[in-house]
Amino acid sequence: MIQKNLSLKAFNSFGVEAKSKYFVTIKSVEALREVLQNPEIQNENLLFLGGGSNILLTKDFDGCSIQLDLKGISEKKLDDNHVLVTANAGENWHQFVLYCLEKNYGGLENLSLIPGNVGTSPMQNIGAYGTEIKDIFESCDVLNLDTLEVETFDLEKCRFGYRDSIFKQEGKGKYVILNVTFRLTTHQHQIKTEYGAIKAELEKMNIENPSIQEVSKAVIAIRESKLPNPKEIGNAGSFFKNPTIPLSQFEILKDKFPNIQGYPNGDWVKVPAGWLIEQCGWKGKQIGNVATHHLQSLVIINKTGNATGEEIFNFSAEIINSVKEKFKIELEREVNIL
Ligand SMILES: Cc1cc2nc3c(=O)[nH]c(=O)nc-3n(C[C@H](O)[C@H](O)[C@H](O)COP(=O)(O)OP(=O)(O)OC[C@H]3O[C@@H](n4cnc5c(N)ncnc54)[C@H](O)[C@@H]3O)c2cc1C
Repeated sequence: MIQKNLSLKAFNSFGVEAKSKYFVTIKSVEALREVLQNPEIQNENLLFLGGGSNILLTKDFDGCSIQLDLKGISEKKLDDNHVLVTANAGENWHQFVLYCLEKNYGGLENLSLIPGNVGTSPMQNIGAYGTEIKDIFESCDVLNLDTLEVETFDLEKCRFGYRDSIFKQEGKGKYVILNVTFRLTTHQHQIKTEYGAIKAELEKMNIENPSIQEVSKAVIAIRESKLPNPKEIGNAGSFFKNPTIPLSQFEILKDKFPNIQGYPNGDWVKVPAGWLIEQCGWKGKQIGNVATHHLQSLVIINKTGNATGEEIFNFSAEIINSVKEKFKIELEREVNIL
């Protein structure tokens, strides 16, 4: 059923108010095709909604919001140590990770507790604690919005990069991701504990040779201690990407700011955006209804619960200006602005 003038407040993790001219929840690919061919909708702008944890609604949406409620998980044995697991777009990401862990399928454990849905995971090649979905991605089925045919995209076709994919670039607005297939290990798991505080957390838990389930528990514990829960305080996780700058620029900055951190990769260095923002005095700073989180300045929060999307956007623009002025680095927003 197509609803009119519906509030999207409950459908975005910032919890900002914005109305959608039309709104519909679809539970099958056939239903999606029907909506897309509906004369009332055909010429409208479209907004596909997963968990709403990576969008900022700065105004009412003049078009049709389509909530993708496609459910179901299936699997196929690949070889002695691998299984292909396919989840439909509307499956909750963390519940899917837990499902795989319960079956002892390895590869997703470092990505535990990332909000949102499976279908959105390829959009920005979600990543955390040294893993990105590209590391275990097999393929995804998409609906081509021009032809309404289903196409399969493999790893190469998705062109994954850091928080990036074809779906944020030339494929933007052209495809709906219907399901995603991951290639997971069944017993010889690759345990990754090098990144972030995983090792320290496992030590705290008195675990020396962790299982994939224990790595997941450590990741969950770290995330719960560091990141605000969107159910309690509106946010969309990291608001900005970590910028990558030329090594020569990094060296000049290092002379001026000896404490600057950086992760070199050839002639480029990735700089933690949170550190840059903090150095500009933004940690925990509040303007009106908006603030950065007191533990992590990369996370912008709807501090009072009454922020508008426009207020949050303007706040983020002030951060970008500060960082540009001090470090000559232009931060890029990770969150999708609408
Ligand atoms: C507390 C917190 C922590 C986070 N931590 C991380 C992290 O560690 N790593 C990380 O990578 N991200 C992180 N994020 C960001 C977010 O969880 C991910 O980007 C997630 O994949 C968003 O999923 P979603 O379903 O909520 O997307 P939505 O916000 O619903 O959608 C995001 C974009 O994708 C489009 N879209 C949604 N579904 C589809 C589809 N099926 N087909 C085509 N387009 C679609 C939407 O139109 C929108 O433009 C975090 C967010 C929060 C709130």
